[in-house]
Order: sequence, then structure tokens, then C-alpha cells
Amino acid sequence: MLREGDQFVQCGLGHRHWGKFGAAGLLVHHDGAVLLQQRSAMSLGPETWGLFGGARDRDEAAVATALRETAEESTLDVSAVRLHGVLREDHDGWHYDTVVGDLPERQDVAPGDWETKDARWVPADEVEDFDLFPPFAAAWPRVRAAIRRTVLVVDTANVMGSRNDGWWRDRHGAATRLRDQIDKLDGVPLAPFDVAFPELVMIVEGKAKDVGDTDHVRTVRAEHDGDDTIVETVNQLTAPGVDVHVVTADRELKRRCAAQGARTLGPRWLLDLL
Ligand SMILES: [Zn+2]
Repeated sequence: MLREGDQFVQCGLGHRHWGKFGAAGLLVHHDGAVLLQQRSAMSLGPETWGLFGGARDRDEAAVATALRETAEESTLDVSAVRLHGVLREDHDGWHYDTVVGDLPERQDVAPGDWETKDARWVPADEVEDFDLFPPFAAAWPRVRAAIRRTVLVVDTANVMGSRNDGWWRDRHGAATRLRDQIDKLDGVPLAPFDVAFPELVMIVEGKAKDVGDTDHVRTVRAEHDGDDTIVETVNQLTAPGVDVHVVTADRELKRRCAAQGARTLGPRWLLDLL
């Protein structure tokens, strides 16, 4: 099916690109391997290897484009992909978005239409051994560095205490409001992504400790000391390929989290996004 975005355009840098409204592709990884598409003999960059993806529709979000195109061009069940972030390559008015996600379990993937000659899981170390589609070859070092996932751990008491909304009168209510705002976050700026979709964790304590989970926010109750619970949680979440970010203004806690390998962000960073 030909869509409105399916045409060539010239970007501000003078290149010719496919996709009137930009284009997007899916970098899906599992256990150190990434899914590559071998492009068909009839396509641009015939028989080279790159990512599944294609032209954006007018007003279509990059994530939707990447998943739609991948579902058209391959047999991957895209509903299983856990999204971690988006990398944007900006060509002065035209962009290509690489949507990064992983799979909890590996799937066997076959070509889905004429645009695809082959589909293969390739260990990240071996990607450069393939004859790559030139734009993908150029993007690969940055894309490879984004084969990660991010977790945001919120020091609820500290973040709550840094806004003047009457939280001291009703700590449970204020923590619930904060949780509901965090639940609605739709992507945050966190390196290595331009837009990250982190796993969201809130540490709750004292009169706010019965604030429960939502679809996107997991709460961890501090039975005793909130700071100790945050440090324990960071320690449990830390693993290869995982970036843990802790939101707090507490200097001693920042030092303890940094010692576990976590990065720290101030409450203002989060509150400005809500
Ligand atoms: Zn360009």
C-alpha cells in the first residue's frame, strides 16, 4: 500500500531521503544480538543489511512507524517488544528515528513482504561484518551504544518536599498525585537516548507508604529508612546494560547511589517534565 509519506525528499543537508515526513526503524535486541533485515534486490540499497523500518505517515509517531513497518516487512510479533528509547538523527528539517527495544524471549523471524530478502539475529560484535545499508552503517556506533535499558528511581519524599503544593498537610495524597503524574510521562530525555522510556520506580515511606502501583509505576515501600531502601533498590536493579538514574536532592544519598554506579538527577529535572 502506498502511503502519503512514501516519496523521496531532499533534506536541509542536501541528501535525498525516502519519507516525506521523515522515517523510522526498529532496533530490537535480545541477549546481545540485534535483528537485521536484508533488503530485497528491488529496494534502495539492494541486498544490503539494515533495520526494519520505513517512511512516516503524516502526524505518525516514530514508535508507531517503526513497529508498523517492521510488522509489514517481517513476521516479528511487535507487540512483544519492550520499548526503551528513541535516537533521533536530525538532517535539518528531516529526521530518521531509531526506536530501540528488546524482547523478553527470542523469536524466529522471517521476511514478511517483497521488501525483505532475509531476516537474521546478529550478535552486536558481528554487525560490521555484514554488507550494511550505508545510512545504517553510519549510525551503527551510536545505535550500538544504545543497546541498553534505563530505570528511573524516585526518592518520593525528597521530590515531594521540593514542591510547594501543601504536601505536608496530606503526604499520602501528595505522593499519589506525584505517582499519577509520573505514570503519564511519555518519554524523558535521558542519555544515551534522545527520548527514553525508562522503567519507573518510586520509593514510598511513612504516611505515603501505602501508595500502590499503577500500569507504569512500581512502588517500593520503605519499612524503615527511606534512604537505605533506595540504596538497596539501586543495588538490586544494577546490572550490565542497565542505566539506573536516581532522582533526589539529598547529597549524602547521591553519594551512596553514585557509589553503586547509579547516576543522579535533581527533583527539578523531574518536576519540569510533569
Ligand atoms: Zn540528510
